[in-house]
Amino acid sequence: MLEQPELIYLNSVPSKYLLCLDLSKLIKYHLTTIANRAMKMNRLILLASLIFSSIMLSNCGDDDNTPDTVTIQGSQVTIAEDSSTLECLPSSAPNDIAVIACLFYDESVVVVVGETSLKITASSEPDHKSMYYETTNALYEDYNEDDNEDFYKNPNTIASMNYTFTLPRFPEMSANNEDTPFGPMGVSINSVVFYNQVAAPGDDILEELNTFDQYEGHPTNTGSYHYHTEPTWLTEIKGDSTFLGLLLDGFPVYGPVESGVTLTNDDLDDYHGHTGVTAHFPEGIYHYHITADLPWINGGEFYGVAGKVTQ
Ligand SMILES: [Zn+2]
Ligand SMILES: [Zn+2]
Repeated sequence: MLEQPELIYLNSVPSKYLLCLDLSKLIKYHLTTIANRAMKMNRLILLASLIFSSIMLSNCGDDDNTPDTVTIQGSQVTIAEDSSTLECLPSSAPNDIAVIACLFYDESVVVVVGETSLKITASSEPDHKSMYYETTNALYEDYNEDDNEDFYKNPNTIASMNYTFTLPRFPEMSANNEDTPFGPMGVSINSVVFYNQVAAPGDDILEELNTFDQYEGHPTNTGSYHYHTEPTWLTEIKGDSTFLGLLLDGFPVYGPVESGVTLTNDDLDDYHGHTGVTAHFPEGIYHYHITADLPWINGGEFYGVAGKVTQ
């Protein structure tokens, strides 16, 4: 069950917001959604949003006087029920990760902002083309990069995963830096998970680079599609300085360029980050950068106190 979420971002619905609304409002909302979006929306996602709403309702009690604003750590957020633009939450502390929760854009990501944690569920199915999709999938595309003669396809196919990340909403430096795990160590804004710089036991990551598709990802033998390196689809559509996602410790990951300069590993500490101002944290925050060279995303240990991921 969800732990008393204060605000839920459900990126598959147009308003992007679902709150503890009364039942009639909620049903009306969904009927409108069905009518307006029936052609566009995946029925499964709609079903998931209904189930999620029910969970929200069950947590909400019978309060008929639900306000149109919600108080989050002292900040008031106005809820625009039919807004097509997702507004980020105002910051309630210099390191409040809730301010970037809305940037997870893909339909397959749901972010629930709780009092002290973010809960992110992700299917890890890329929103870009890949030859690791079933050939019948609309996103299937043959490999089309001619700059890697050593490319070969691994035998795996992308599957829909059901990852749940529980991350600190206010990330903090750790006194006892934990190793990054084998498997998901973070989640990107399009739901695809980040893996660290180590291949599965017995495999060589530098050899595996040749199995990456044209957007630099590949699936495991359980179908878990992931990025070890720069997700070039995201930097292509969002820019080289973009916010790319969060690692398990709640600290944000940014693209390779900062203030017009392409960073290298030499600009970063052992964890592969540094503290400074970013577009979303004007008072400065620790953040990771993806660079072109090994270890790419993270140096092997989390800078902060790591949260959890379940499947
Ligand atoms: Zn891999
Ligand atoms: Zn930076």
